Amino acid sequence: MEGKLIVISGFSGAGKGTVIRRMMQEHEGYALSVSMTTRKPREGEIDGVDYHYVSNETFEDLVRRDGLLEHAGFVDNYYGTPRAFVEENRRAGRDVLLEIEVQGAMQIREQFPETVLVFVTPPTAEELRNRLFGRKTESEEKAMKRLRRAAAEVHSIGEYPYLIINDDVEACAESLHSVISGSWTPEAPDGDHRGGEIITDQAQKEAFAAAFSAGLEKIL
Ligand code: 5GP
Repeated sequence: MEGKLIVISGFSGAGKGTVIRRMMQEHEGYALSVSMTTRKPREGEIDGVDYHYVSNETFEDLVRRDGLLEHAGFVDNYYGTPRAFVEENRRAGRDVLLEIEVQGAMQIREQFPETVLVFVTPPTAEELRNRLFGRKTESEEKAMKRLRRAAAEVHSIGEYPYLIINDDVEACAESLHSVISGSWTPEAPDGDHRGGEIITDQAQKEAFAAAFSAGLEKIL
């Protein structure tokens, strides 16, 4: 059976990467897509593991040859999902995870309406600020740019059927797996997800987004 396609979005600094890695340590059958980017590697990042780091020319060439399933500009760079990896892994029955931002997520939804779309967020805007400025791998200016980007992205939370609050990495990883595997549904939640609360109710998602947006406005 063909593997599922799963999109995981969230503010830069939300801890998505850590949550995904944790889930993959605990559960088999997943493949994580490694994106192409024109951004420079951060300290500690490895080419081919965190991203495929390429020049603008290479990126544009790949777009022309239809080698990317989706692509988008984010802050000052381009990011995109290599098509071949996704297709091969799905064919092999693995569930493929795409850790991508909102514009790319909408492109994927358009092409593959059955995609599971999840938005991961820290509990509050203050927590996001602390995580971004605590990362120390980037300048304050870049951290501010990412917060401003979050202020724009917060309005897209309603587009995602599942919102997961990342209060605790382990709990959040379990929530993510429950949602993907279908063991958790709004009608039949599979027990306690404290630390990784799952929100599917539209009004509740919008209330969360409004509070988060107000928090970001205070910071920016
Ligand atoms: P970062 O520079 O912090 O690694 O990533 C910046 C943003 O780009 C994050 O929101 C990340 O999810 C998103 N991103 C990473 N790879 C891709 C991709 O292939 N396509 C799209 N659309 N977004 C991506």
